[in-house]
Amino acid sequence: MPSRASTSYAPNEARVKALIKQTAAAGFVLKNVPEPGIRDDEVLIKVRRAGVCGTDVHIYEWDAWSQGRCKPPFVVGHEFAGEVVKVGKLVTDVHEGDRVTAEGHIVDGRCLLCRTGNSHVCPYTKIIGVDRDGCFAEFIAMPATNVWHLDDNVSFDVGGIHDPMGNAFHTALTAEIPGATVLITGCGPIGLFAVGICRAAGASRIIASDVNETRLALARRMGAHDVVHPGEADAAVNAATDRLGVDVVLEMSGIPAAIHQGFSLVRAGGRVQMLGIPSRALEIDLAKEVIFKGITIYGVVGRRMYDTWHQMTRFLRSGLFDPTPVITHRFPLEQADEAIRVIKSGEAGKVIFEIA
Ligand code: NAD
Ligand code: ZN
Repeated sequence: MPSRASTSYAPNEARVKALIKQTAAAGFVLKNVPEPGIRDDEVLIKVRRAGVCGTDVHIYEWDAWSQGRCKPPFVVGHEFAGEVVKVGKLVTDVHEGDRVTAEGHIVDGRCLLCRTGNSHVCPYTKIIGVDRDGCFAEFIAMPATNVWHLDDNVSFDVGGIHDPMGNAFHTALTAEIPGATVLITGCGPIGLFAVGICRAAGASRIIASDVNETRLALARRMGAHDVVHPGEADAAVNAATDRLGVDVVLEMSGIPAAIHQGFSLVRAGGRVQMLGIPSRALEIDLAKEVIFKGITIYGVVGRRMYDTWHQMTRFLRSGLFDPTPVITHRFPLEQADEAIRVIKSGEAGKVIFEIA
């Protein structure tokens, strides 16, 4: 019996469109490939929408991280929603026609971390579109255990961005947000979702910082009370907190200057939630920035399985949180180069593929 984390497809005769990382070089190729077969514990999903993410840009550019991690050829993409078209023999709770999205981290389910409610840090995790075939394709095979049903009133657009939205839910809701003053450094798609989530969760003051005007305007639209350039963040935090500092920082840029600014602007005893991934090691003055302030730092990996998913569904169901303003661009798979260009330009919020 192969482990749940392995890929073992018996491909069908039918050929389907997929965006492939073909070789160890920059770019993607759109090709017809065999329709994925499914194992007995898997389902086949017809992909309707797929979100394009910074990770896809890294793989497109074939940077040092992707060279060390990925093994071409494979289908890229890890954020999606669609419709179940086939179910394996052992699957009982997912049915043909179900509208679904899925957790893209496929974990072993058996290690200490998985068995203690910490499968988001399972060391045996395989990620779709990174370690096995992904969702920038007409069809994807997924283990049924990873499938998440969408409420009838949740669109495929919103279903297709559950993965990055889940990053934002995980980051925000593992802090104490009701009544809190919150600084969000970085208003990329995940920072923008976080603004809306903190607003819905009852933050008393949300200060969002970014260097990009388009994204600051989106942060305002998502409910930030103050939108500021990094150079104005100190003054905004001081004014909003009587110079105390914010209760919670959500670090969503990965930029060293923003990370240091977060440590400086969190109040003593406060909390810094770290989602942004710096591209290299950085130096922190632990005594000054962390220890003597008595702060708590929380490292965010993906989404908690499946607490984050339940929280997301409930917030969407309540109508208190609407992520749709963050989606600014849509493309067919044929325009993948343009989708990547738009993301790199910084002129977009969230970019999605419309596949069917
Ligand atoms: P993104 O990387 O585009 O967002 C980063 C934003 O930070 C940009 O809008 C940028 O203009 C802004 N920025 C740059 N310098 C800044 C500064 N000094 N102060 C404030 N903002 C600044 O898009 P994203 O998809 O929202 O990703 C955010 C971060 O989260 C990235 O670093 C990404 O790699 C990381 N990420 C982490 C996880 C995880 O599981 N930990 C998952 C997905 C993404
Ligand atoms: Zn595990």
